[in-house]
Order: sequence, then C-alpha cells, then structure tokens
Amino acid sequence: MAKTASLSSPEIIELTEKVSAHNYHPLPVVLCEAEGVWCHDPEGKRYLDFLSAYSAVNQGHRHPHIIGALKDQADRLTLTSRAFHNDRMAGFLEHLCNYTGFTRALPMNTGAEAVETALKMARLWGHKVKGVPDGQQRIICCEENFHGRTIAIISFSTDPEARDGFGPFAEGFDVVAYDDAAAIEAAITDDTVAVLLEPIQGEAGVRVPGEGYLRAVREICTRHQVLMIADEVQTGFCRTGRPFACDHEEVRPDAMCLGKALGGGVFPVSAVVANEEVMGVFTPGSHGSTFGGNPLAAAVADAALDVLEDEKLDQRADRLGRLLREELRKIECSRIVEIRGKGLLNAVVFDEGFEAWDTCLELKEQGLLAKQTHGNIIRFAPPLVITDEELDQAIGIIRKVFESID
Ligand SMILES: *Cc1c(COP(=O)(O)O)cnc(C)c1O
Repeated sequence: MAKTASLSSPEIIELTEKVSAHNYHPLPVVLCEAEGVWCHDPEGKRYLDFLSAYSAVNQGHRHPHIIGALKDQADRLTLTSRAFHNDRMAGFLEHLCNYTGFTRALPMNTGAEAVETALKMARLWGHKVKGVPDGQQRIICCEENFHGRTIAIISFSTDPEARDGFGPFAEGFDVVAYDDAAAIEAAITDDTVAVLLEPIQGEAGVRVPGEGYLRAVREICTRHQVLMIADEVQTGFCRTGRPFACDHEEVRPDAMCLGKALGGGVFPVSAVVANEEVMGVFTPGSHGSTFGGNPLAAAVADAALDVLEDEKLDQRADRLGRLLREELRKIECSRIVEIRGKGLLNAVVFDEGFEAWDTCLELKEQGLLAKQTHGNIIRFAPPLVITDEELDQAIGIIRKVFESID
C-alpha cells in the first residue's frame, strides 16, 4: 500500500517534489476524494473543480453510472489485446460511431495517440488514395496548436517550451496562422494530404476562431482533396455546448481525434473516427495499441457516452456557459481585457504582464480550483454536471477574488 494516504498536504507535496520528474508545476493543493464538481484535500477542505482535468471530467467526478460500469467490467474481463476479440469493444465503437456520425472508429488510449493515429491515417490515405508519393505527404497545422507531447506532434508545435531541446523533429508539416482560412489555402500543394486543427484552441487560452472559419476550411479542403481533421480531444463531448465544437458551424470534418472526456473522468480512452473511404486505408499490422479497445476502457467509455446523452450535457453546457460569461462580464476588475469561450470552455484574459498564479492561489484559498495558461489567462471549465446553485457559488468566489485584484 502507498504510505501517502496518511500524510498531510505539505508532506505529500514535498515528497512529490523529491521523487517525481519536474515536468509539471501544479497548484499547491492535494486532492484525495471527489464527487461531481467537488474535490476534497486530506485536511477536509472542499473545492469546486473549475478545470475538470482539462475537460476529461465532463461527466463529473465518479459519476455513478460510469463507476458502476467500471466495477461490473472489472469483475468480468479487463484486457485481451487485439490479438483476440473481446465482447465489449464492438458495442462501444458502434455507440461512438452513432454519437459522432462516422462509420468507423479506431480506439487508442491517450489524446496524443489519437492525433498520431490521425496523422498516420492521413499520410497513408494521401499515398494510397490521393496518389502522393510516399515520403512526400505534407500536413498543414496551425500556430499555437496543442495536440499532445510526442516527438511527431511537438515537431509542429510553435511553443518553444514544448520544443526546445527535443530535436531532431519529424518532417512534413507546414504551420500557418490560426483563424486564417486563406493562409491554409495558400499553403496547400499537390503533396498536401490533410489540415489538422483544433476547432477552438484550448491550450492557447481558449482561442475561439471567427464565425465562418471552420466552414471556410471545410470548403477549401473539399476543393483541394485534402482531409480536414478536427482535434476535438478537449472541445468534444459537449464541452462547448454542442456534442462537438465543429457542430457550431455545422461542419463535418473527414476525421476527428477524440480523448479526454471519452474516458468519463476514469480512464484514458481515445479514438479516431472517420468514414470507410479514409479509415479503410489501415490493414492488419499497419497500426495498433496493446491497450487500445480493451474491454474495461470500452465499458467505461460506453457509459461515459450514455451520461452525455441521458443528461443532455450539451444543452446544459450551452445554457450555463452563457450565464457564466454574462456574470463574468459584470465583474469590476480593470486588469481584465476579455471574457471568451463557448459552452463551459471559457477563459478570462488579463492584460499582458499580469501574472495569474497568485490569483489562482487566492481562488484555491476561497475554494475554487482553476489554472492559468500563458501567465495572464485563467480557464474556467467545470464539469458539465454542475448545478445552477453550484455555478452561482463559483461566480461568487470568482467575483470576490477578481474584484480584490486592484
Ligand atoms: C489534451 C489534448 C491532447 C493530448 O491528450 P493527452 O491525453 O494528454 O495525450 C491533444 N489535443 C488536444 C486539443 C488536447 O487538448
């Protein structure tokens, strides 16, 4: 048994600093229990979770339906690898195809793996279907993207922190400005096989592109026979007030990368969805994952989708998101320059040079957990099961902290 269960928060933080790699700089809070929107620390203090593990906990912490599915499946079968069939994967994938409107799904584990899968699928499709000579396929990506942490993915990152010191990088990527459809069109050549983008850039600070951007990208991709691949790992599964962020413009990409909330806040589950013409390029041996599609993950993800549907979390996120932004805009704080977001994926942008770390510490003291990105932006993304009363309570805390800033 881990001995940390009996330690105090400062002791756990000290031990973490001592034994872990320092690839994160977390807020100084230790969580040991959670339910719904609420988390507890070992000292018994309660916090509203306004990060939701970067949108992996859309269904709330330990949703009973999802935990029930996890426990039932844990008592039956957990892992087979894909060398054999299991009795849970097909049902889950059918559910995912119905939910997303695509005909095929390829299950993986993490978001980065879903993106890697989509990149490989696009290159293979470009070669086999579009006829681009193998080795020449090019993929267009956007500045300030975040798609994960693997070598191939950071190869087209524009964030020096994510890239510096990690070369040599993977080739075949062209990076253009975000929210600029003309820049995408200008970058397309005969060798371009795909455009990969986030319909809202989450890690960049909830950058919402202008109305019409996604539609324009869709039209350009269709015209040039280039795949439009939407990374909906963070924006998907009701977070932005629609099942997927592309739904806001009624845009259907050729493929979507999915993860985070697909695991229902329990388990890493990711997938790429596409139609047969695209997904059909994979053949036995061309791609895979030992844990991808495992029956425990399939049972959890199946239940995670149930919760989104049964509780209409898209509508809830849409309504409460509008309310949250409206209330945030009323807060009197001269350092705030913008409130933006869709559904329950929102950000408060402070002026350049504002350091939001201390504000996040103060929010924590007052019982609300949120994390800044880029120093001057605080993201507010609670679990979508948050009640009106809980949101009111959260707004009260945020108002109190923000109005005492200057
Ligand atoms: C979090 C995220 C990823 C990576 O997911 P991991 O599970 O951390 O590998 C990829 N794309 C987007 C848009 C994300 O927000």
